[in-house]
Amino acid sequence: MTSTPTALSIAQDLLRCPSVTPADAGALDVLETLLKGAGFTVHRVTFSELGTADIDNLYARIGDGAPHLCFAGHTDVVPPGEASAWTHGAFAGDVADGLLYGRGAVDMKGGIACAVAATLDYLAAIGGKPKGSISFLITGDEEDVAVNGTVKLLQWAAERGEQFDHCIVGEPSNVEAIGDTIKIGRRGSQSGMLIVDGVQGHVAYPHRAANPVPDIARLITALNDEPLDHGSAQFQPSNLEFTSVDVGNAATNVIPAQARAKFNIRFNDHHTQETLKALVEQRLAVACGNRIRARIEWLPANADVFVTKPGAFTDLVGAAIAEVTGRKPNLNTGGGTSDARFIAKYCPVVEFGLVGQTMHQIDERTPVSDLDKLTAIYRGVLERYFK
Ligand SMILES: [Zn+2]
Repeated sequence: MTSTPTALSIAQDLLRCPSVTPADAGALDVLETLLKGAGFTVHRVTFSELGTADIDNLYARIGDGAPHLCFAGHTDVVPPGEASAWTHGAFAGDVADGLLYGRGAVDMKGGIACAVAATLDYLAAIGGKPKGSISFLITGDEEDVAVNGTVKLLQWAAERGEQFDHCIVGEPSNVEAIGDTIKIGRRGSQSGMLIVDGVQGHVAYPHRAANPVPDIARLITALNDEPLDHGSAQFQPSNLEFTSVDVGNAATNVIPAQARAKFNIRFNDHHTQETLKALVEQRLAVACGNRIRARIEWLPANADVFVTKPGAFTDLVGAAIAEVTGRKPNLNTGGGTSDARFIAKYCPVVEFGLVGQTMHQIDERTPVSDLDKLTAIYRGVLERYFK
């Protein structure tokens, strides 16, 4: 019996590739070699778009039937920052005092290494192919603009007839300790600009002008004061946050013609982008009455809300976590966005990986024992999934 590589050795191989977006630096080669060796069919797909760097992506699958479990993630990393500030080289893959250091240790080369190690070990144990399919959907374009990555790779896979039943994204979902948090969704995000038109004039003759400044203050208060909702089963209440008010007026004796205010809304599953915009515009109309002339310019939307409702799949992942860590994970929908929002359009998706505390920081690191635990958890997921 040949032994399969450990998550630590795979993670070190990945960390030693300085794959700061858009560079790949050999990271996907590491995965391709391992997955091919285990019998996966591996595709390397490069996507281009005018004005952005070409990006290398990887899709690998073993098995041809259902159920189909996909591990998704990214091998690109954010820049290391000041190199001399690192205790151990950002791309050295050093282990010291039981800690693996390096850019991407937790976000998320470590997580990918655990998924690969668990899968190779599982396939070796069953002696070949799973009763269904396992795939890896890995992009090199998550940390930057994310245009030549997961979105296009999912479209490419769909055009090939690939169908996923469930997906685990190995992003660092845990807050304090491994097993404390599964992310099952994210709020949507929508930005806009409130514009109030007045009539410019001399401050000494206000009857000949219409000042938009007090009016925009009234509208901001009106839109702020009324809650968008009171939260839902899986989400905290939606929130509208004004982030700046601009008049652009350098003079003290001129009433400005226009006032603008920027805002962002983080919204939950009570809304879609369309119903949310309609609700805010209707409230604005009420606040304006017949007197104030105001409108909203919506920015192109960056993220819709999604949620994988608690059920059989989250229970299965939770059981594998409990077996290894003794913890009952919190099913969380907080925080910023990730590629899971794109995958959610194709199949139920959860995020579960390492502990996120040091992500994007100097001395990003993970305990080696966490790599072992996460590998055991993914192994437990595979065993339960293909029972
Ligand atoms: Zn990440």
